[in-house]
Formats: sequence, C-alpha cells, structure tokens
Amino acid sequence: MRLTVLGKSPSWEDAGGACSGYLIEQDGWAVVLDCGNGVFSKLRRFRDYTRVDAVLISHLHADHFLDLIPWSYALTYAPRQQPVPVDRWPGTDQPARPRLVAPTGARETFRRIVGAWGPEELVENAFALEEYVEETEVEIGPMRFDFRSVPHFAQTFACRVRAEGGDKTLVFGADSGPNEHLVDIGRGADLILLEATLPRPEREGPRGHLTAREAGEHAARAGASRLVLTHISDELDALRARAEAEDAFGGPVAVAHEGATFGI
Ligand SMILES: [Zn+2]
Ligand SMILES: [Zn+2]
Repeated sequence: MRLTVLGKSPSWEDAGGACSGYLIEQDGWAVVLDCGNGVFSKLRRFRDYTRVDAVLISHLHADHFLDLIPWSYALTYAPRQQPVPVDRWPGTDQPARPRLVAPTGARETFRRIVGAWGPEELVENAFALEEYVEETEVEIGPMRFDFRSVPHFAQTFACRVRAEGGDKTLVFGADSGPNEHLVDIGRGADLILLEATLPRPEREGPRGHLTAREAGEHAARAGASRLVLTHISDELDALRARAEAEDAFGGPVAVAHEGATFGI
C-alpha cells in the first residue's frame, strides 16, 4: 500500500494547505480517506479524480468531508463526464461515479448542507453513497476496511486498512480523545496515523482530541511499528510535537506534511 498525505490541517487550513485527506493506493486501486476542505485540489496533483474507486469518511465534521461538494460538482459538470463531446473531451456513456462510504446520517447531512443553496441530492447523485456502522466491513479491490468508534464531538470512527494477500496494516485514528478502542484497532499496525491537535489537553469539558505525547502513548500501547502525527496546525511547533511523541512512543515519529508518501 502507498499512503499519500493530501491534507493534514485541523479544522482550519494551514497556509496553502488542506484539511484531513489521505490517498491510499494498492495494485492500481485508489481510496481517498476523508475529504476535508482543500483536499479535492490537492488530490488533482496526484490522481485523476475520475479514477478514484471510493471515498471513505471518518466523521461528519466539515474538515473531514467538505470537499465532497466541489468533487460532486466536478463529477456532475466536468466536460469529460458528459455524454456528448465537449471541447477536447470525446464524451462518455460511463461517467465516473465513485463509491462514497460514510457514517450513518451522512445522506441527511449532505442534503442539509447542499440544500442551503441548491439541489440537495448533489452529493448522492454524484457518488454511490453507502452508510456504514461500526460492524461494517468494506472491501475495495484488494483492500479491506473496518472501523472502531472513538470518542469525539460527533459519531467518529477510526479505520483499519488491510491489503489482500499481505499482512500489512494501516490504521487511521480520525479525531479522538484518549481511549482504548484506538489501542485495539491499532494493535500491531505497520503504520498508525494519529491526530496531534492539541499542545496540551483541553482545559474543560469532555476530551475530543489528543496531544502529540498522547498520540505517542497510544501508538506505543498498540505496539505499532511506525507513527505519523497529523491534524496539526502550522501554527504549532512540529518539532516540539515530534519530540514529545517520540519520547512517549520510544521510537522515531514523522509529522505528516502535504505530499508526503509512506510505503506500507
Ligand atoms: Zn478534524
Ligand atoms: Zn472532528
């Protein structure tokens, strides 16, 4: 498997950056995991958006799904998606309609958002939408995905990806406060991608995010081989975050940046 970071910003973009989005490729198949604001533009640098097999969404926060909207417009209106020749595009009777795998309630959320100004079925018409629950296992070409719920401010799922015929595992923690499910699903991962949103724990209210040190602790308890920190603003010190995570993890840690690729 190959993981490419499309966006790693938290709920507001870094300068020139994008929110949560990761391209996972295996044997010519491609999945985009999360599609936050800015991700569609970044994706176009690495992969033809009509040749993505599926999009998976970890939770229904804007920074994890908002660019489904421009992507839906592209799938609906792009010249090459039309049945007749337009400009240099020959026309097609098989326009791309990637799978969109999102948590329960996604259809309603997308309708509410797009319905604020336009035809509310934009997203579900552009993509083949399927909603998942925690028990769902999703097969996309040679890749298998499963999910564990994690504590956050909305229903949120960490996700594990396994490639068929290999014993390689990639785990994405989504957004979450400290919890045991993350350790469970991350068990023995070859690469675990964990958020490190906070420079220190939230001062009040329920926990919904991790510090870099906590990300390191979770990865160590899971026995993961490699840790990559993500969902961290360019307004925080990446070197300090990495040092804290390495101290807790007990090994080298990478901090995600846009365009970074990891072989798994
Ligand atoms: Zn987020
Ligand atoms: Zn979130």
